[in-house]
Amino acid sequence: MIQTEDMEFAPRFVTPENTQEDGEIEITLRPQTLREYIGQDKVKEKIAVYIEAAKRRGEPLDHVLLYGPPGLGKTTLSAIIAHELGVNLRVTTGPAIEKPGDLVSLLTSLSDNDVLFIDEIHRLSRAVEEIMYPALEDRVIDIIIGKGPSARSIRMDLKPFTLIGATTRAGQLSSPLRDRFGVIERLELYNKEQLTDIVRRSAIILGIPCTTDGASEIAGRARGTPRIANRLLKRVRDFADVMGNGEITQEIADMALSRLEIDSLGLDSLDRRMLNMIIKGYGGGPVGLETLASAIGEEAVTLEDVCEPFLMQLGFLGRTPRGRVATRLAYTHLGFVPPEDNSGQLKLV
Ligand code: ADP
Repeated sequence: MIQTEDMEFAPRFVTPENTQEDGEIEITLRPQTLREYIGQDKVKEKIAVYIEAAKRRGEPLDHVLLYGPPGLGKTTLSAIIAHELGVNLRVTTGPAIEKPGDLVSLLTSLSDNDVLFIDEIHRLSRAVEEIMYPALEDRVIDIIIGKGPSARSIRMDLKPFTLIGATTRAGQLSSPLRDRFGVIERLELYNKEQLTDIVRRSAIILGIPCTTDGASEIAGRARGTPRIANRLLKRVRDFADVMGNGEITQEIADMALSRLEIDSLGLDSLDRRMLNMIIKGYGGGPVGLETLASAIGEEAVTLEDVCEPFLMQLGFLGRTPRGRVATRLAYTHLGFVPPEDNSGQLKLV
């Protein structure tokens, strides 16, 4: 099949979602302690205090909800929290807990003060959520035994534990569940300096020679996301091995990333397709998310979770009640002349 930049099947090196290939290497690259965890300073400072307080009191940490786009370090931070507390970590995801019984067996298998990490917690089923409420609030679960008129409910005590929930969509969490988290923290996209540090750290761990300029070039094109920075590092290393002397310099990084169709700001083909469609197909917007998604043959959630946080951070995209609009900056970056009229999006820029 011939693939062009505009085709929807173009590979996405910059998807922040975890891929199988990432999985293997992420284990090696995951920081183990809060000190090693780069950036997110405000969150880190608060969590360090909560951890210390919980340890001094010999109590479990309050339940924690971490939210923000994928690849920013939610899973990593949860593992660090468990590590710093000196307790076990159990990892699962919302969709993996299919039945209330699955949650019951998870909760009853925890030891004192353990951390249960549930990724994609917004995808818990209603029935599972119902079990979760008393578990979080009163450390008890109500189990129904039998069926029909003879059914009885038995209350079971749980050991003290901490739930850490992670989600890319805090808005989709039901309010009774959200209200049961004592600590709610949003992880932010990383700046270029922080990502440069992350790339340099990963390069050292992986034994890849990399200059500071090389790391900075990768960092600047990693759309604020450590997972993408680490993935780009691996791809750029291939180019450095084959086309250079193995060292990642700024020139090598620039050449490699351009070949991977990641532009100077980190936009990939999907970002460009999205903005191009708003500008060329809908006169700059506003255009509804669903309409936009079907026009470019992509899932609305992908655009919302993956493209939008980054494009909005760059100031390329605006969200209005009537839909998405491309800003002047987006026009200019993609080589279009911004419109001169008084249309909606011009008020945004
Ligand atoms: P999320 O759970 O938010 O999708 P992860 O915790 O799986 O993200 O992080 C993805 C990868 O990015 C990790 O394997 C880790 O190597 C790296 N990473 C994330 N946050 C940091 C950080 N603050 N410092 C260093 N590396 C990080």
